[in-house]
Amino acid sequence: MRRNSCLGCSSTQLVLFLDLGDMPLAGGFLSSPGEIIKEKTYPLPIYICESCGLVQTLEIVDPEVMFQNYSFSSSTIGPLVEHFEDYAAWLQQTLNPNTVVEFGCNDGVLLKSLEKLGISAHGVDPSKNITQLAREKGLNVTTAYFGPEIAQELRERIGQVDVITGSNVFAHNDCPERILEGAKALLKPNGHLCLEVMYAGSLLDEWQWDTLYHEHAAVYSLSSLTKLLHRHGFYVVGATKTSMHSGSLRVTAGLDSKELVRSDVVAIQAYEQKCAITSSQTWINFGKQSKRKIQIVAEVFGQLSLHKRIAAYGASGKASMWVNACKMDYLQYVVDSSPFRAGKLMPGTHTPIVFPDDFKKQPPDYMLITAWDYADIICTKENWFGGIWSAPLPVFRFF
Ligand SMILES: [Zn+2]
Repeated sequence: MRRNSCLGCSSTQLVLFLDLGDMPLAGGFLSSPGEIIKEKTYPLPIYICESCGLVQTLEIVDPEVMFQNYSFSSSTIGPLVEHFEDYAAWLQQTLNPNTVVEFGCNDGVLLKSLEKLGISAHGVDPSKNITQLAREKGLNVTTAYFGPEIAQELRERIGQVDVITGSNVFAHNDCPERILEGAKALLKPNGHLCLEVMYAGSLLDEWQWDTLYHEHAAVYSLSSLTKLLHRHGFYVVGATKTSMHSGSLRVTAGLDSKELVRSDVVAIQAYEQKCAITSSQTWINFGKQSKRKIQIVAEVFGQLSLHKRIAAYGASGKASMWVNACKMDYLQYVVDSSPFRAGKLMPGTHTPIVFPDDFKKQPPDYMLITAWDYADIICTKENWFGGIWSAPLPVFRFF
């Protein structure tokens, strides 16, 4: 199904800037070869809204298909666990809440860190298998999509709360207004909404076209997010860049229009103005350059694959994008240490995903780091490898 208006502001002034044709879901890992026959692909055109500057795909895939058996468990990814421990400490220092509700809480990695600090934490997440993991750890989690109904239910159960947060989930949702309406109903009048979203500025800086997939319905800038929040009665009071998922934005907003705005908001606004982040021309250029980058990586590895063994490291959503956009059906395997990924097949190319031990048993000649944002960590961990490493972004390189 395709929307014909902007996710953030309902405008129909939308400009297409990147189209990679039909692609499988980036998170659509297959459990067995038997699932290949049922695998679907979907168009993936990426647009910018000329009215509010929001970068988005207009193609809507049923969230039940995308997230029901979501194979992304935050607690299995070391740097993410660290991120959430830091985030919990930051929330305590900056906003000092007694109660926090997190939507899209995944397996409860943030909830656990908050509880450790003595903060009462409640989670909401639609994925059955992942929320089960959180409950097994004794955390307070409801399996649902966060919206006005669940907000009402929580309000009756635990009262109004100090902070509502969503980390790397707000942009996955094609009804952001439901989240905002829910948050407004559940927050105390002086409470805060804290959102961590993948940042459009980082996309521009590092050519991260590989994060533009169906599951990420939108990529926000401070500018486009401010407009959306304002329409629903929230005022931005703080904004910080973080390194999560190769560049995110942490935005704090309140319901009181008179609350003091922190200076970090002004600094990011100035940066966004300088790089013309809401201009369609900026993104048309980004689209052209990204296509060129894909073409170069496809040609170089296509040639190498004629006489060399090639594998990839990191079965993330980014990996799905690279292997499918570059048609890398020649890869020996993709390495991933997560038990949610290893043993499965990559979407589209159906390359087997293996544990790091198998990489050691059968090392390839070339190893392409598809999780390029973790390149340093991966190379340090696998420093025994005598072959050639490569990373496609931010600059395509061999080392
Ligand atoms: Zn818009």
